[in-house]
Amino acid sequence: MPKTKLALVGIGKIALDQHVPALAASPDWDLAATISRRGTVPGVEAFTDFAAFLAARPDVTVVSLCMPPVPRYDFAQAALLAGRHVMLEKPPGATLAEVQALASLAAARGLTLYTTWHSRMAQAVAPAKAWLAGKTVTRAHITWREDVRKWHPGQDWVFEPGGMGVFDPGINALSILTEILPSPVHLTAATLTFPENCQTAIAAELTFTGGVTADFDWRQIGPQTWDIRVDTAQGRLDLRMGGNVLELDGKPAGGVHSIMGEYPALYARMNALVAAGQSEVDLAPMTHVADALTLGRRLMTEPFVL
Ligand code: NAP
Repeated sequence: MPKTKLALVGIGKIALDQHVPALAASPDWDLAATISRRGTVPGVEAFTDFAAFLAARPDVTVVSLCMPPVPRYDFAQAALLAGRHVMLEKPPGATLAEVQALASLAAARGLTLYTTWHSRMAQAVAPAKAWLAGKTVTRAHITWREDVRKWHPGQDWVFEPGGMGVFDPGINALSILTEILPSPVHLTAATLTFPENCQTAIAAELTFTGGVTADFDWRQIGPQTWDIRVDTAQGRLDLRMGGNVLELDGKPAGGVHSIMGEYPALYARMNALVAAGQSEVDLAPMTHVADALTLGRRLMTEPFVL
C-alpha cells in the first residue's frame, strides 16, 4: 500500500517531540509538507502560508494541526473546505461550539475529522477500562501536578484566553477518566486559582458526581504526578504515569514508563478512520473543562511568570 501524504501544521514542541517521530516510524504516512511561520522539519517541503500550501499540494489529502487551540479553527475550516481530512491536537479547539461546527462541516463534505486525545492511547488505559467494566465505582481521585515551566517553556499562550491554563494538562486526565469510567459523571463544583497577572488558572480542584474529585496544579517542583485512583466495590485501581502504568489493589499489573506509544497509536487510528470514511469527535473531556469554567469559584494568587 502506498503511504498517504500528510502535512503537519504548527511546527513547535509537540510536533517535533511526538508527531514527527511517530510519522517517521509509521508504515501508513508520508510527511509531505509542513506549514509553520518559523518551524520546519529537515528534508520536508516547508510552507509558511496555509492557503499557498492548499493551492500548491492537492496531493496531500490529510492535515494534522499541532498549533495551540485558539488559532486552530481557521486552519481546520480552511482544510475541510479544501477537501482535506483533519486531525486535531488536544484540546480540539478553543470552544465547544467551534469544534461542533467543524464536525458538521466534515460530515457535510464526507471528510474525516479526528479529535485526538493522546492520553487515551497510554498503555494502561484500555486494560483499566476493561477491568472497570461492570464494576461499581465508589469514588475516584485524579492528582495531576506538574511544573509548567518544565513542560511549557516560553509558551505564553497557556496563560492567555483560550490557553486553558492548568486544564491544558488536566484535560489529559479528564480524557482518561471519560474513557475508563463505566458510567458517566458530571461536574458539580470547582475552585480555580488564578495568578493575578494571568487570564487562565494555574490550579483547580474539581468535584463530580459519583464521588469523583480532581486536583490539578501547575506549580509542582520535583517529582511530577499524573495519577488516577479508582475505588470500586470489587477492588482498587491506580493509573500512574499519565495512564501508562497500571496497579490493581496496590500491585503492579502492567504498562510501561513511557509515553512514546501514544502518538503512533493516534496516527494508526487516523489511518483507520480515513480508510473507513469515518470521523471521531468526542468532546466529553472538554465539556468538563467548560463546566468547571462555568461553575468555578475564583481564587487569586501571586503573579506567575513562565
Ligand atoms: P507550541 O510549541 O507553543 O506551538 C506549536 C507551534 O504552533 C508554534 O511553534 C508555532 O509555530 C505555531 N503557532 C503558535 N501560535 C500560533 C498562531 N497564533 N497561529 C498559527 N500558528 C501558531 O505548543 P505545543 O506545546 O507544541 O502545543 C500545541 C498543542 O499541542 C496544544 O494544544 C497542546 O495542548 C498540545 N500538546 C502539547 C504537548 C506538550 O508537551 N507541549 C503535549 C501534548 C499535546 P510557528 O511560529 O512556526 O508558526
